[in-house]
Amino acid sequence: MEMSSKLLEKAVAEISQLPGIGKRTALRLALHLLKQPPEQSQHLAEALKKMREEIKFCNQCHNISDNDVCELCANPLRDKTIICVVEDVRDVMAIENTGLFKGQYHVLGGKISPIDGVGPSQLTISSLVAKVKAGDVKELIFALSSTMEGDTTNFYIYKQIKDCNVVTSAIARGIAVGDELEFADEVTLGRSIIQRVPFENSFKNN
Ligand SMILES: [Zn+2]
Repeated sequence: MEMSSKLLEKAVAEISQLPGIGKRTALRLALHLLKQPPEQSQHLAEALKKMREEIKFCNQCHNISDNDVCELCANPLRDKTIICVVEDVRDVMAIENTGLFKGQYHVLGGKISPIDGVGPSQLTISSLVAKVKAGDVKELIFALSSTMEGDTTNFYIYKQIKDCNVVTSAIARGIAVGDELEFADEVTLGRSIIQRVPFENSFKNN
């Protein structure tokens, strides 16, 4: 893309490095910023710089945080004995949005995937196992994605803590709310039958 300004070209090149943003979108965003007052670009640049330099990871659950311990871990009303194991911070946000979980989290930072070169040591598994072995955790909820990598990761963790005095559970996988049965795939429908719940539970929290 030939541009009349090297400065614009540089900005477009940087913006287009973001996932899902092609050169055309990057150009549209850059031109939009040029039409706005200069302060808007300054605020954007400052917010990004500050976020990158100052953001931390909670030293207990590895969630993104402004402090050494995140707000969820620091909250005395959250149950420290129940830990929900998730892949990344977006999963924490998704579960928090339900408003139904009052325990704490452990963010693994991904899942075991030999194809992508991700082994257990690149994840925060050892600190999770240490937490469980310390004896304060009563239940571990596996809330990883329903994929081979997710299952492998769950099982890898399970093997290390199965002799500890801890209950393990996995989030239910089944028919989505509003879905018609005939359109569900066989695996999902099969799991929904096997992991059926008492009827009284089926309409709670809806
Ligand atoms: Zn935390």
